[in-house]
Amino acid sequence: MYQAPLPKEFADLSQEEADFRITAAKQALGSRLVILGHHYQRDEIIKHADFRGDSYKLAKDASKCPDAEFIVFCGVHFMAESADILTPDHQKVILPNLAAGCSMADMANLFQVRNCWRELEATLGSEMGVVPVTYINSAANLKAFVGERGGTVCTSTNAPAAVQWALTQGEKVLFFPDQHLGRNTGVKLGFDPDTQMCVWDPFKPLGGNTPEQLRAAKFVLWKGHCSVHQRFTVEQIEAARQSHPGVNVLVHPECPLEVIGASDFNGSTEYIIRAIESAPAGSAWAVGTEINLVNRLAQEHPDKTVFCLDPQICPCSTMYRIHPSFLCWTLENLVKGDVQNQIVVPAKVKHFALLALQRMLAVGG
Ligand code: SF4
Repeated sequence: MYQAPLPKEFADLSQEEADFRITAAKQALGSRLVILGHHYQRDEIIKHADFRGDSYKLAKDASKCPDAEFIVFCGVHFMAESADILTPDHQKVILPNLAAGCSMADMANLFQVRNCWRELEATLGSEMGVVPVTYINSAANLKAFVGERGGTVCTSTNAPAAVQWALTQGEKVLFFPDQHLGRNTGVKLGFDPDTQMCVWDPFKPLGGNTPEQLRAAKFVLWKGHCSVHQRFTVEQIEAARQSHPGVNVLVHPECPLEVIGASDFNGSTEYIIRAIESAPAGSAWAVGTEINLVNRLAQEHPDKTVFCLDPQICPCSTMYRIHPSFLCWTLENLVKGDVQNQIVVPAKVKHFALLALQRMLAVGG
């Protein structure tokens, strides 16, 4: 989405000035305000957050503050949408920089997914038994698409439970937008990635598949990926094991299948945090996830060796767009009674997206 440039007064703020003014605005707003900070945000933002978490936890945290008038979501666009869906209408959800999207979420849009669905119906028949499952990292209108067609949303934590549930509702799963999470989940459940899964490329007829491949597949995996987690490689794991004998390799399930296979542990952002928190002092951890989180874990656990698998810096560039200047601008406008960058999911979209999110909660896992 387009974000107008900040007024010069904010764009030129020093770190100290931004800190001071953010703190003052927070105090002025008091309990009317809650700031949510995703784990991948930079430290200069995280220190002002009332709650820290991954997208799913933060959406739930938002609903724990019914008195807050303003929920300022320091994360990316789809997360702010989920918070708006899960909170009552009197709460305003605000994204400090509208340009903070998610490159993975942007790899599937409603037009493409509708087209895919039509092609699947034309190939497999109207009783095709395909259940759509969307990762929480997707636009609200895709969550609504899934909700309207009997499918569910999943998180990286509950993907196996959500997919298992989907397979009790139909014959096949259309999983989007992250092919890696879909593939890793299918393999975890015992399916063969070579014979029971195919990849849907939205830019090719039939997604680049033959009708026979689509008939044989249990999983149709959307050709999307996370630009941060797809960077991790088996070579990096081998290098970490050489430089740190006995190291534990811990990666996110948005990484490619061969990286998951070469690692010792894999799990969601919250899983990664808990694993390092509960690890014994003196243990070493090579972590395959976003660099701001890995650096913070290293600082918070000086008794353990924690480092990023990728020797190059690998921040999420869209998360990084929530700069302290944007947070300061947002909060000072709220103090003046001027609500900027409110994220509002239309009522019709909200209805079916909420249905899909409620199925996700009911599935648990
Ligand atoms: S880390 Fe990946 S999935 Fe998460 S917001 Fe960034 S691009 Fe999207």
